[in-house]
Amino acid sequence: MTKYILWVSARLENMTNLQPMGGVDDPRFCYIFKLRCRCGDETKNEVCVTLSETQYYSRQEPKTNLVKKCKECRKTGTITLVPGEGFPLTENYSRRGRAAPLMQFRCNGYEPFGFVSNSLWRAERGDGIPILDIDLNENEGFAYPPEDGEEGARITNVEFEFRHARFVLFQCADLQRTQDTIQKKLGFSRL
Ligand SMILES: [Zn+2]
Repeated sequence: MTKYILWVSARLENMTNLQPMGGVDDPRFCYIFKLRCRCGDETKNEVCVTLSETQYYSRQEPKTNLVKKCKECRKTGTITLVPGEGFPLTENYSRRGRAAPLMQFRCNGYEPFGFVSNSLWRAERGDGIPILDIDLNENEGFAYPPEDGEEGARITNVEFEFRHARFVLFQCADLQRTQDTIQKKLGFSRL
């Protein structure tokens, strides 16, 4: 069992708290990505995994989000989403060139790669007004036009990356707020 975190980074202008439309643990947000099996075989097509769709796999893994048999080695692997580990990408993070962890993936037999954004996102303008239904598809970014004397807002340079979960604490080590969040979520003894 290996844990991966999906990270998002982007340049946010006059906007903050970029996250899936229903929040970081949005049950319907579709995580679309490819799989690399332990035998080295890579899936040609992406899979779609959501928190709300679960399958029974075994007594050890009774509630997983994807069960898939590799076409090459015929072994079965699973992917399980772990909610409660992510937080939105803030303007502060963006300015520092940092990424935010969105979701943890507990992977058995597979490594996730090549995330594609195909679900909707939300964010907030600098003045706190929500911006809904943001489409980050095709990596073209997103622009919210200025209106009634209000400033416009933009998202550019969007990047997604799966990283092995053991790097999380090193990535966040210099950010006290993040550490506090992680301590609260994981319990101090695991840091
Ligand atoms: Zn395989």
